[in-house]
Amino acid sequence: TWDVVLPEGAVTVDAVVATVPSPVLLRLVAGLPESYRTKLSGLTYEAAAVALLQLSQPLSDIYWLNIADPELPFTGIIEHTNFMSPGDYDGKHFVYLSRYMEPDHPYFSMPEADLIEEYIPYLRRINPSFDRGWIERWWVFRERAAQPIVTRDYSEQIPDHRTGLPNLYLANTSQIYPEDRGTNYSVRLGNRIAELVTADLGPG
Ligand SMILES: Cc1cc2nc3c(=O)[nH]c(=O)nc-3n(C[C@H](O)[C@H](O)[C@H](O)COP(=O)(O)OP(=O)(O)OC[C@H]3O[C@@H](n4cnc5c(N)ncnc54)[C@H](O)[C@@H]3O)c2cc1C
Repeated sequence: TWDVVLPEGAVTVDAVVATVPSPVLLRLVAGLPESYRTKLSGLTYEAAAVALLQLSQPLSDIYWLNIADPELPFTGIIEHTNFMSPGDYDGKHFVYLSRYMEPDHPYFSMPEADLIEEYIPYLRRINPSFDRGWIERWWVFRERAAQPIVTRDYSEQIPDHRTGLPNLYLANTSQIYPEDRGTNYSVRLGNRIAELVTADLGPG
């Protein structure tokens, strides 16, 4: 059994499925076999920032706009309320501005408000009549392990779901290969892990 320490207290469980990024598992768990630690520490990830804007009116009529123009500071504009009705959101319009980057990029660490300020002028490139007064609320989310980087012979570097410690499993985006990560594959992974754990624990 494992004792998992949570803010609410410790719980004793038969098995643990860790769904954190691989470097986080390295930090969380002592005693992993050296060969497994080597695999975990060999994985690298691209970071990402997503700014979410709540607007009083639409930015454009496009749902998903990929951007390859290096002059723009974001690489995707996803206007969610061009897919789902603003009526579902009290008439508000929601726009995601996404960007993947190296973790040492200034956008990954600059204050959130500065990042929004950086982005605002470029929204007029999408809609020249855009006005900052349209922004009612905003949020910034950043993730260090946003996208596993697939390197040569990657398939040989993927850590097993079984970590080498009894009844401790790993299920994360680094193990989706040859697919790219996506929520569909996370659900598939969840089902696979559930079968694996059930088989390992046996009846009862
Ligand atoms: C910008 C962006 C856009 C995306 N767009 C799409 C899309 O359009 N369609 C699609 O299908 N997929 C998309 N994805 C991919 C999708 O989000 C992932 O594939 C999916 O969320 C992975 O699920 P997961 O449960 O493996 O990991 P996550 O959802 O990342 O869950 C990992 C969890 O671990 C937690 N965690 C981290 N460290 C610790 C710690 N020390 N202790 C406790 N918990 C911790 C994190 O907070 C997080 O909740 C996108 C991803 C990004 C970054």
